[in-house]
Amino acid sequence: MSKNSPIIEIKDLHVWYRTYGGFSKVLNGVNLYVDKGEKIGVVGEAGCGKTTTMRSILRILPEGQSHTPQGEILYHGKDILKMDRKDLQHVRTSGVSMIFQEPSAALNPVFTVGTQIYDVIKYSEAGKGCSKEKIKQMALQAIKEVMIPDPERIFDCYPNQLSGGMKQRICIAMAIVTPREVLIADEPGTALDVTIQDQVHRTLKELVEKKGMSLIMITHSLGVARELTDRVYVMYAGNVVETARTQDLFANPSHPYTRGLMSSVPRLAGGGLAEGIYGHIPDYLNPPQGCRFHPRCPQAKECCKRQKPPIVDLGNGHKVACFLDAEVV
Ligand code: SF4
Repeated sequence: MSKNSPIIEIKDLHVWYRTYGGFSKVLNGVNLYVDKGEKIGVVGEAGCGKTTTMRSILRILPEGQSHTPQGEILYHGKDILKMDRKDLQHVRTSGVSMIFQEPSAALNPVFTVGTQIYDVIKYSEAGKGCSKEKIKQMALQAIKEVMIPDPERIFDCYPNQLSGGMKQRICIAMAIVTPREVLIADEPGTALDVTIQDQVHRTLKELVEKKGMSLIMITHSLGVARELTDRVYVMYAGNVVETARTQDLFANPSHPYTRGLMSSVPRLAGGGLAEGIYGHIPDYLNPPQGCRFHPRCPQAKECCKRQKPPIVDLGNGHKVACFLDAEVV
């Protein structure tokens, strides 16, 4: 829990997906918060629940395929899961914006990118009462802010006329063109070349700092989390297993999964193969009892197979869900 009043606070969030085999529980009690102006990272392997957690904030989980989430998602103390359409619209247009992993899928191929940015402004509170020309100028300014040259020409381009990096910059422009408090970036560099990824991440960081926004960066890259964020949440199989200030987490990782993730990063100095983590994310239709990480954990004990581990407070906001730390503290 934050000492301040967080902008967003997720409490004990559970989400199920409907599958041919039955209900699959993909979030198993997630807790997370973000303060004003803070940059947090959410890291973990593909399939650990990062994107589902973030889509729950905007209530954009696939309808008919997901069970109504249980728990609370508080936006300035008001539960998003219980909001009516009008309040939810306010959150989506003035509170929280999201950049998705794949810019080609996020942009509509039959409209120019300028029209798509224009519409974001038009339907937001910032666009109310503005003339068409004023909205167009705001859209051009947003294209400039994401470092795309020749905004007038780009405004009239269709997504298929732009490179992957430019498309992702347009998605960033759509996310920041109207004032928002929180920007969720869902692995915005995944579909891009490494050099372009770096440029996109730097642009994002500069923009959120300049505009005083909070950032939630979803990533499977520890390097990105280390470079861009103030605090990190490590997720495994639908649970937050460790959270700490970024520098504390990297200086003193405690959970065996976090240590495994760090050992999976190849090192230039010293050589040798990365150790990695044995096994894979569990089947959510039939997840392991107790600690969901126990089948892969080199330090698992008998109690880990029966009980969910307690959250242990290591001080300074560093918390870990593991029996090993419960013994020490
Ligand atoms: S609770 Fe047990 S199985 Fe889970 S990470 Fe800790 S030691 Fe490993």
